[in-house]
Amino acid sequence: MSAVAAPIGVLGGTFNPIHHGHLRSALELVEILGLEQLRLIPCARPPHREAPDCSAEQRAAMVELAVAGEPRLCCDRRELEREGLSYTVDTLASLRSEWGAQRPLCLVLGYDAVATLDSWHRWRELLDYAHIVIIARPGWELPHVGSVAEWLSEHRVSGPEALGKAPAGAVLSLALRPLAIASTDIRTLLAAGRSPRFLLPEPVLDYIEIHQLYRGTGNGA
Ligand code: ATP
Repeated sequence: MSAVAAPIGVLGGTFNPIHHGHLRSALELVEILGLEQLRLIPCARPPHREAPDCSAEQRAAMVELAVAGEPRLCCDRRELEREGLSYTVDTLASLRSEWGAQRPLCLVLGYDAVATLDSWHRWRELLDYAHIVIIARPGWELPHVGSVAEWLSEHRVSGPEALGKAPAGAVLSLALRPLAIASTDIRTLLAAGRSPRFLLPEPVLDYIEIHQLYRGTGNGA
């Protein structure tokens, strides 16, 4: 099957809150993979972690503020509009029906996401709907043994060109500019009354201050 149009990138996350680690990776992926756009998809009801301490609506609002002015990045609210737990395989199925059978889709996963991939709902089906692009993340390693490691190596390709040639089914590993920023650190700083400035976009920080988010005693993990 040959594909003609530029790939669409998909980066899901809780974005609690979005930070420069997400955004810098997103922009580098657009340029390295020649994506038409990269869609940041806030997870409404995470299957694998406690409900975040601020609402999906607030997390999506922060993503929208962060990408305003960068037309190659956008906030996709489809998981907020769906009932039930937010399974990535359902999100990819919905994107596939919207973009058609031929358009290459690239699901981006950081090392931390890959580490728990075999606990994801219908995880092996992800490659039926999209390619998987794995991005290195400071402090994390890829699994070297086990079902996920084997599955990834079976589908691995060596360069981005392969992703434009088929709509789905390949795994590419990339090392982008490493930025050791995590949302957890930002929540921890705020809960301690300290500033996370310069780890995330200024309009996102303004939103957090206006809405008094992450002021609780825990880190809201
Ligand atoms: P938390 O600290 O709450 O777990 P997080 O910073 O890991 O949050 P998520 O919203 O869970 O952020 O991440 C969404 C996606 O972005 C995941 O695939 C994750 O691996 C990736 N990601 C997050 N931060 C970075 C970073 N600094 N560099 C590269 N990838 C990242």
